[in-house]
Amino acid sequence: MQYDPNNIFAKILRGEIPCHKIYEDQHTLAFMDVMPQVEGHCLVIPKHPSRNLLDADPIALAHLMTTVQKIATAAKKALNADGIQIRQYNEEAGGQTVFHLHVHILPMKIGMPMKKHTGKMADNALLAKQAQIITALVK
Ligand code: 5GP
Repeated sequence: MQYDPNNIFAKILRGEIPCHKIYEDQHTLAFMDVMPQVEGHCLVIPKHPSRNLLDADPIALAHLMTTVQKIATAAKKALNADGIQIRQYNEEAGGQTVFHLHVHILPMKIGMPMKKHTGKMADNALLAKQAQIITALVK
């Protein structure tokens, strides 16, 4: 399958649609998931185009995981979480819905149930606030 440059994350990278940005460097962008499954659900994407892990450039993957570690550490502190779950889906059969490689960062608390992926948008002001708090803790 070919990479489609009109996917929603490519549009976010080009600034054609907004996001609640947490962090950006030369290779990666981190922002809030608009339909979070837990409080503080973040996404990290590479700037280098690929559908998913399977067709990704290995160097781009290395940069991606470096940012994932950075954001996961900041999100754990920001949300006062007990742990972090990292999720990543590949192709429709693998649960992927947006076809630009991305990694989910889910701050988890003991005993806290994860919301179903309902497609319900979170409050914009809350996402903006969470992005700001996480950003402040990125090292
Ligand atoms: P996937 O199922 O492909 O791993 O996850 C795609 C994720 O992107 C979902 O968690 C979904 O909530 C999120 N998402 C979909 N559209 C947008 C959007 O326009 N902006 C942001 N920030 N997240 C999105």
